[in-house]
Amino acid sequence: MKIGFIGLGIMGRPMAKNLIAADYSLVVFDKFAPMDDLVALGAEAGTSSKDVASKVDLVITMLPNSPHVREVVMGEDGVLDGAKPGTILVDMSSIAPAASQELCEAAKAKGVIMLDAPVSGGEPKAIDGTLAVMVGGDATAFDKVKDVLDVMAGSVVRVGDIGAGNVTKLANQIIVALNIAAVSEAFTLSTKAGVNPEAVFDAIKGGLAGSTVMNAKIPMILEGNFNPGFRIELHIKDLQNALDTAHELNVSVPLTAGIMEIMQALKLDGEGSSDHCAVAKHYEKLAKV
Ligand code: NAD
Repeated sequence: MKIGFIGLGIMGRPMAKNLIAADYSLVVFDKFAPMDDLVALGAEAGTSSKDVASKVDLVITMLPNSPHVREVVMGEDGVLDGAKPGTILVDMSSIAPAASQELCEAAKAKGVIMLDAPVSGGEPKAIDGTLAVMVGGDATAFDKVKDVLDVMAGSVVRVGDIGAGNVTKLANQIIVALNIAAVSEAFTLSTKAGVNPEAVFDAIKGGLAGSTVMNAKIPMILEGNFNPGFRIELHIKDLQNALDTAHELNVSVPLTAGIMEIMQALKLDGEGSSDHCAVAKHYEKLAKV
């Protein structure tokens, strides 16, 4: 199976490298980022999304948000201009579930089958090939691409029809954001009370409050290392998609709205490109820690 890979950023680049390392033949494209390192590994550089799609059986996209995926898939010289009927399109970006459904309909009209397959795990798991992938869409197409997804993933779960992958990702992003807020709030309090935060971490990480988020983010917070990782502005994008989806469905999400305001305040403070664990800075500033 020949694979096209569009979007070679923090996540897409290592994911594409893992596919090349697994002996898949790749055609890659990014409108802004360099492609030389992937070409040096054996990939072909595409000249547009259309060009990539015309040369492959499976197109994978890893782009920031819904408008970027719309442009790459439905725009001029886009995937749907070049793809042959029967091509499978797997969008691994985190976008609005409604956008996945709209794109899937447009793809279907051209005989292209689309799956939404966003990921969790961040750059380290993209590099290790151990991402958690949550997939929505046609079960037969899923079976055809499962081996390819397995190369990039520690777990691949089909959660339902098109859009279900991104609904699952929104749930993931709400939980991660609120976990970071909870950890930041709790550690700011214990630090202000004069207790060594490293001792607090050691004492509680093996108990019920322990979490993957705490294990990953507390060492960064304690070192004052806010290099992304996952940028505040990308998390704001996901929270906006969560709020929009919740409001469309008449679901009340007050905690999501709360952490959104904290992340917006950080962005206004110039922290948009910091890792999302910079939420701790917001609490520390208020508490004058
Ligand atoms: P990124 O901004 O580093 O990469 C996106 C890439 O898309 C860039 O290289 C950009 O040049 C390219 N691009 C944008 N518009 C394009 C276009 N029209 N044509 C071709 N290329 C285009 O973002 P990222 O961190 O790799 O994240 C990608 C997606 O994965 C996002 O939806 C993000 O929310 C999600 N995600 C990120 C992480 C993380 O930790 N960074 C973790 C899980 C999921």
